[in-house]
Amino acid sequence: MKLSRRDALKLGGTFAAAMAVGGTAEAAEATPKATAADSQAPLPTPKGPRVVVVGGGWSGLSMAKYTKLFAPTAEVVLVEQRDVFISCPVSNMWLVDKVDLEFITHDYYQAAQHHGYSYFHAAATGVDKANNTLHTTRGDIAYDYLVLAPGIDYDYSFWTDDPAVENRLRQEYPAAFRPGSEHMTLKRKIHNFKGGTFLLTVPGGNYRCLPAPYERACLIADYFKHNGIKGKVLLLDENNDITIKAHGFHTAFEELYKEYIVYEPNAVIEAIDLDKKQVKTEFDTFAFDDASFYPHVRGGRLLEVCGVAKDTVYNRLEGDIDPMTYEVRGHPNIYVTGDARPTGFSKSGNTSLSEGQNVAKMLAAKINKQAPLKWMSPVTLCISAVSAFPEHGIFIHSEYAYNPKHKQFEFATPVTDEHWKGKEGLENAQNIYGWAKACYIDMFGAAKS
Ligand SMILES: Cc1cc2nc3c(=O)[nH]c(=O)nc-3n(C[C@H](O)[C@H](O)[C@H](O)COP(=O)(O)OP(=O)(O)OC[C@H]3O[C@@H](n4cnc5c(N)ncnc54)[C@H](O)[C@@H]3O)c2cc1C
Repeated sequence: MKLSRRDALKLGGTFAAAMAVGGTAEAAEATPKATAADSQAPLPTPKGPRVVVVGGGWSGLSMAKYTKLFAPTAEVVLVEQRDVFISCPVSNMWLVDKVDLEFITHDYYQAAQHHGYSYFHAAATGVDKANNTLHTTRGDIAYDYLVLAPGIDYDYSFWTDDPAVENRLRQEYPAAFRPGSEHMTLKRKIHNFKGGTFLLTVPGGNYRCLPAPYERACLIADYFKHNGIKGKVLLLDENNDITIKAHGFHTAFEELYKEYIVYEPNAVIEAIDLDKKQVKTEFDTFAFDDASFYPHVRGGRLLEVCGVAKDTVYNRLEGDIDPMTYEVRGHPNIYVTGDARPTGFSKSGNTSLSEGQNVAKMLAAKINKQAPLKWMSPVTLCISAVSAFPEHGIFIHSEYAYNPKHKQFEFATPVTDEHWKGKEGLENAQNIYGWAKACYIDMFGAAKS
């Protein structure tokens, strides 16, 4: 069945609504180490099977909520190293002041209380798989089932093997593709920019949120335009074309930002000179005044520490799982979900949220001693803004199917609307906020207006 644009938007809304039966300080992110803590975590003795979910992002929040919902006898513990949730989706709008920080910030206690699980504020540092024990910075936690949803880490090895350069890139030009301080640095850069070239990069591989770098380029360009800043966004794309919603973004670049965006495809970076503020590709050298470098992504470091990571066709060190069950190979009581999965799904919040519901159903069937459930497709629904003053948007909605010929999962039922002009485009952009609110209600039990 082919879905219309309106059906797809409705579906997205119903999907999120159906799931809704739910300071800016970022806690120091301890580098995970495979050392055992010398104490037990201060948690009550579980009355039922204990499910420990590591990572309170879009995936872990969904896994924790839906596991408790579908297997009420389970004691679910969410282990998260941050004490505040900041949403990456809608953060590009926050960069240009279209929403305030309050809108994208949520607290873990509310989520846990609303959905009947425990939030344990700690970093996971390793796992003893033989004894079903997770090590954390606040003690060991015994588990019956373990879900690892640590998201992504950055992989700078395509650009440099010099730790000093990598450190400068992280510190001075953060990618802002993981939530928190990086985004704040980027916002400060945009708001303090006096003019010249503002460099952004798009990595190859299956990077987090395919449209987000193009959306960000549009919104920063629109901010410059709106505020009379004589600046240009230089977008160096390692790919040979815009990777998703290409028509919508190309027409926006052409028609809205001719003077403000320079788009360079096939721009594989060969060298970065941070002192001279220059980037070298095979054919050109580009100068910049300020920048945010988005490197390749890899699976969250925790997977490697726990010995459950492998290189995939898409990226390095993602979860070594059976893609149909999400179970770690050789350890069927450990799961890897969200952006750390090895499958080629779009690394998006909506994908993680809907996937979490599916995987929680499979896990609950195991806990409830029911027949195993078959793989269900996650849903990618991604609405991007191409302008902020006023807002216009484009979107894609799709499920996935396995293509045995190509031996990979592919978009099965894509519906896109890349017409950002006029009423349709305005309506698409407004749906960004409605979609986000529905997702926040789903994860936290409440949204902010
Ligand atoms: C700018 C931007 C815009 C985006 N826009 C959209 C959009 O419009 N729509 C959309 O659907 N998606 C969007 N996304 C993508 C979306 O944010 C991600 O796909 C989503 O966050 C993935 O969820 P996750 O749970 O796998 O990872 P995350 O959300 O990153 O969560 C991982 C969590 O694990 C925690 N963690 C990691 N290691 C440990 C450890 N050792 N111990 C304890 N905790 C740990 C981290 O602190 C983090 O909270 C966007 C992303 C960006 C960056």
